[in-house]
Amino acid sequence: MCEFTQREYSCGHFRWVASQWCREYRTTHKRCEPNVTHFKYRGEERCGNCKPEAPVAWEGMIKRLEQHPQ
Ligand SMILES: [Zn+2]
Ligand SMILES: [Zn+2]
Repeated sequence: MCEFTQREYSCGHFRWVASQWCREYRTTHKRCEPNVTHFKYRGEERCGNCKPEAPVAWEGMIKRLEQHPQ
């Protein structure tokens, strides 16, 4: 079985990252039952789906206009 590391992110999602492919996978390239051997908690990170998107250059300008006193 292939060895996987389970990562838990601060958003509560999990990701499985292969840490070692077994011989069977390397020779046949067939996915076998994943065997989670390591657990890591990434308390400071969010998964790829929950990461805030890169700020848009003009976002600050819009906010400044909205907050401008009349
Ligand atoms: Zn395997
Ligand atoms: Zn997430």
